[in-house]
Amino acid sequence: MTVVRQTSEMFNLSKRCKYNQEKLGLVPTMGALHEGHLSLVRKAKTEAQRVIVSIFVNPIQFGPNEDFARYPRDLEGDLRSLMDLGVDFVFAPTIEEMYPQGFETRVELSKLPNHLCGLKRIGHFSGVATVVLKLFNICQPDVAIFGMKDFQQVRVIERMVEDLNIPVKIIRHETIRDHDGLAMSSRNRYLSKEERVRATNIYKVLKEISSDIGYGFCDPKRLIDKGIGNLEKSGLSVEYFAICDPNTLEDVTQIEGEVLIATACWCGSTRLIDNMLASPKKTSQ
Ligand code: AMP
Repeated sequence: MTVVRQTSEMFNLSKRCKYNQEKLGLVPTMGALHEGHLSLVRKAKTEAQRVIVSIFVNPIQFGPNEDFARYPRDLEGDLRSLMDLGVDFVFAPTIEEMYPQGFETRVELSKLPNHLCGLKRIGHFSGVATVVLKLFNICQPDVAIFGMKDFQQVRVIERMVEDLNIPVKIIRHETIRDHDGLAMSSRNRYLSKEERVRATNIYKVLKEISSDIGYGFCDPKRLIDKGIGNLEKSGLSVEYFAICDPNTLEDVTQIEGEVLIATACWCGSTRLIDNMLASPKKTSQ
């Protein structure tokens, strides 16, 4: 496994893989790897002959009052996990390498960021799209794997790839959960024991609302009120709870086909997100 710090070196290594006609897979991460990340890497291994995992805590996707400074970092531990999985390259650039003096270009999407997390995290998805486009240009992958845990992020990347004709196939990967349903996240390590238990209610409520939708309840407003009520009752503070179109992320006024139920909640001082796709059951008539 080669650990690469410089963009020029990564670019040359990728170019060599291309020259050898080896299919390249990329898994972009911010490190502090957990089983969710590792399952993306395993997926990449089945899709490509060479796998690059990038580890970069991207400063431009954090707002001024967000957790950039205290975001967990564990490069040594991450490298051990990735070595066990047979990763070929770990691209772990410095901030100066990615954003040298004079950097001023940004990728902006005009609609997808105006929903869900983007409403409070102003500029976040522009920061994500910008760094992912840079990673695509540096690593030149044929495929890139993204987790559906960050559903809005996947949609933003899919949109960008389509809009800008980027020759990368985006593969969505299911959300990996702990035994009690809590979606794995690098931020779960901020939770106290008591908060960790409380946080499991996010999955419970998503499942409950998804099952209501399955049974044919089709009024999103009532379901949203129920979801928020149950989350708040369990001691979580809800930033948003939405039932939306899984492509545009616009709120739906009536549930007719597949919808995305998505939420962001504060558990103490930790912000957690999760989501679930749901559909009304089809009857045979
Ligand atoms: P992050 O390091 O949080 O930026 O995440 C890197 C990638 O891992 C993103 O594509 C995330 O969606 C994905 N990811 C994070 N947590 C999970 C999870 N629990 N299950 C599946 N994918 C995940």
